[in-house]
Amino acid sequence: MRERGILIVVSGFSGAGKGTIMKELIRKHSEDYALSVSATTRQPREGEENGREYFFKTKEEFEKMIAKDELIEYAKYVENYYGTPKDYVEKHLAEGKDVILEIEIQGALKVKEKYPDTLLLFVTPPNAKELKERLVGRGTETMEVIESRMARAAEESEVMDKYDYLVINDELDKCVEEMHRIIRCEHRACSHNADFIEKIKKELKGE
Ligand code: ADP
Ligand code: 5GP
Repeated sequence: MRERGILIVVSGFSGAGKGTIMKELIRKHSEDYALSVSATTRQPREGEENGREYFFKTKEEFEKMIAKDELIEYAKYVENYYGTPKDYVEKHLAEGKDVILEIEIQGALKVKEKYPDTLLLFVTPPNAKELKERLVGRGTETMEVIESRMARAAEESEVMDKYDYLVINDELDKCVEEMHRIIRCEHRACSHNADFIEKIKKELKGE
């Protein structure tokens, strides 16, 4: 049987390239990873599909999910709820897939509290100037929104050091492979191999 998967949280400044990296990682290594689909109360953007980018919920439906303890974590971000459904994550971890949550920092820290074995990765561009250029280049926000995202990035930089690893997104391909390698190494961490350790201990003692 395949060993249980690892729970991975990916956060990072808006515009750092998280979405782009996730797409490449899943394309190149589709056997290894499952990307969790969050629930949200925000309106779908053009081109977004229910069940693909998000499960789009009303506030009442979302609050019911909270009450029934169906979410691993949730946070309010710019007036809307966002949360991680427990079912999907549990099912894929049990199947041996590494499950990736692309969520903001408050949610990330809650997940780590609840599941201390979670691997926390923080994606950053090589420098602040490049971050602004990527936000401008993406062309999805007004200058005013870009400025507020830059200000939020400055706040988020205060807690980057709570993450396990930094992933610097300079050259995309290198960055994707580096993320994949960090995750492969994490599979060998003793904390993820408790069953193996117990088994070999017993064998060595002749039990
Ligand atoms: P996020 O999901 O973190 O907000 P995106 O994946 O939307 O960021 O990327 C922001 C912009 O930067 C996009 O226009 C994307 O094409 C571009 N981008 C992502 N990675 C790189 C990279 N390594 N080099 C140059 N541009 C990049
Ligand atoms: P957007 O509205 O741009 O899709 O997402 C806004 C922010 O919410 C992003 O930082 C994204 O990572 C975060 N986010 C998406 N899903 C979740 C979730 O399930 N939980 C938490 N805490 N944040 C989420």
